Amino acid sequence: MGSYYSIMPNEVLGGGRFGQVHKCAELSSGLILAAKIIKVRVMRERDEVKNEIGVMNQLNHVNLIQLYDAFESRTNLTLIMEYVEGGELFDRIVDENYKLTELDAIVFTKQICEGVQYLHQQYILHLDLKPENILCVSATGNQIKIIDFGLARKYRPREKLKVNFGTPEFLAPEVVNYDFVSFPTDMWSVGVITYMLLSGLSPFLGDNDAETMNNILHGKWEFDSDGFENVTSEAKDFISELLIPTKSGRMSASGCTKHSWLNKLEEKAKHHHVKLKSQIKLQRYLAAHRQWKKHFYAVTAANRLQRFCQAPNTV
Ligand code: ATP
Repeated sequence: MGSYYSIMPNEVLGGGRFGQVHKCAELSSGLILAAKIIKVRVMRERDEVKNEIGVMNQLNHVNLIQLYDAFESRTNLTLIMEYVEGGELFDRIVDENYKLTELDAIVFTKQICEGVQYLHQQYILHLDLKPENILCVSATGNQIKIIDFGLARKYRPREKLKVNFGTPEFLAPEVVNYDFVSFPTDMWSVGVITYMLLSGLSPFLGDNDAETMNNILHGKWEFDSDGFENVTSEAKDFISELLIPTKSGRMSASGCTKHSWLNKLEEKAKHHHVKLKSQIKLQRYLAAHRQWKKHFYAVTAANRLQRFCQAPNTV
């Protein structure tokens, strides 16, 4: 890999359970890219990353991150991807200098739906749509890209796919129930993201994971009167068509792109000038979420250390 790309060790774009994402440059062209370096310890982990590469190889859409190259070594798999410099969508929105209106929310949601529509046309389920996986292309424009195909799967009509992963707040009822997932599973997550964009509130979030999952299973959600104060009924209808417990009742990605809320933007541009309340509420949400994520990784690291110390050959 070193013959083709130079990884910038100090330019970390993000991280997770897998390892880190670094800025990198293609040596021949100087093109700036992102390198996701994933540690693989066992065959299963290697196969999972190869699945991610396989899925990304099939994608070519302006709202989906593009895979540029991939490398395999004994300990790592590295995905070289196009680099997007605008950061996470929600970080951008909470910036004090940014005035979020319903029209902006429409523009973001429309692109998410178009990306998902393309994915579904390729028979691919993302299965991990959440705010962290929506990045802005630049710090000023409104173009977004969906990232992280680590949990994505090819949908095969005859194969019954059950999954038990993901972040509780964004999980569809069928995932919480360990039931079969399908295209509507992604649409549920689109509904949750849209709800959050417009209100700054997470519709199913409870005091703990069990409570969150209980809220999801019982379809317990409503439009918070304060959060949705300045939001149109068209937007609320859009969300209501997605947060439907039965999979078959949910609007599809192509149905979303045709929904009146995502159309006639020129007309809407004349009216939607009110700053949404979601900005302040999202600031609070992100602060709490980041704190939780830090704690999660600290606990995971501590558990790993404990397991390591308890292993017979290390004592
Ligand atoms: P985890 O699920 O454990 O959080 P992950 O498998 O989801 O990690 P990614 O979401 O693909 O990993 O990447 C982690 C972070 O790295 C992203 O949230 C984003 O901030 C940053 N990142 C990923 N890809 C790119 C990219 N192409 N350009 C710029 N930043 C990126």
